[in-house]
Amino acid sequence: MTGALAIAGLGPGAEALVTPEVAEALAEATDVVGYFPYVARVPERPGLTRHASDNRVELDRARLALDLAAAGRRVVIVSSGDPGVFAMASAVFEALEAALEDAPDYGHLPIRVLPGITAMLAAAARAGAPLGHDFCAINLSDNLKPWALIERRLRAAAEADFAIALYNPRSKARPEGFARALDLLRETCGPERLVTFARAVTTPEERIETVTLGAARPEMADMRTVVLIGSSATRRVVGHVYTPRQAS
Ligand code: SAH
Repeated sequence: MTGALAIAGLGPGAEALVTPEVAEALAEATDVVGYFPYVARVPERPGLTRHASDNRVELDRARLALDLAAAGRRVVIVSSGDPGVFAMASAVFEALEAALEDAPDYGHLPIRVLPGITAMLAAAARAGAPLGHDFCAINLSDNLKPWALIERRLRAAAEADFAIALYNPRSKARPEGFARALDLLRETCGPERLVTFARAVTTPEERIETVTLGAARPEMADMRTVVLIGSSATRRVVGHVYTPRQAS
């Protein structure tokens, strides 16, 4: 039997936001591979082997998924949100590129990427429509890039008046980066700019709070938070935050 690999996004948390396509791939899988909190979201059942790994071992995890698929298994490698957004899809293609050097047969493996609802879209929907005009997404983790590049992109995005979604804003390992990012944004955008902190969106721990940059504090974000910085046009209408479709 030929194996296959699906790289699937589980969405932000709620079961109702797992796409039918992903649910079907999981129902047919023999193996699920991923970071342990995400693998834990896939219920145990007979015939399914769950391979949970620690964070920051993306390439090992991707290689394991490729090896299992090459051995004839139907493998689903899972990410939260969308697998192409700061997640496993790129890691799998990187691992495939490396694997082809010693295992050219891997070039024939059927590999599919199954999209999911990414955190910024789930968060934006909860707040209203803060990403309703041009926007960009920046990962604040400096695990895979230098901090200087993060600052350069933040400044460029703020100067170009994009709304900005910040992923991985703050971890215990690097608490100071997000404080520096807020300082930079306050300098560029001023204190009145709206910022939405969206934590654990669509889970029972969800918390959504919109404040001005002047009132934003680094402690308002953690690793389960996505932060949406408004553009200069982003505003409130009753309880909703939105960015108008037109700009001048
Ligand atoms: N592939 C994921 C992102 C992985 S990076 C996606 O598409 O959503 C991990 C970061 O995503 C977290 O630090 C946080 O910034 C954000 N995130 C993931 N799930 C979230 C949720 N339910 N609520 C708020 N932010 C979330």
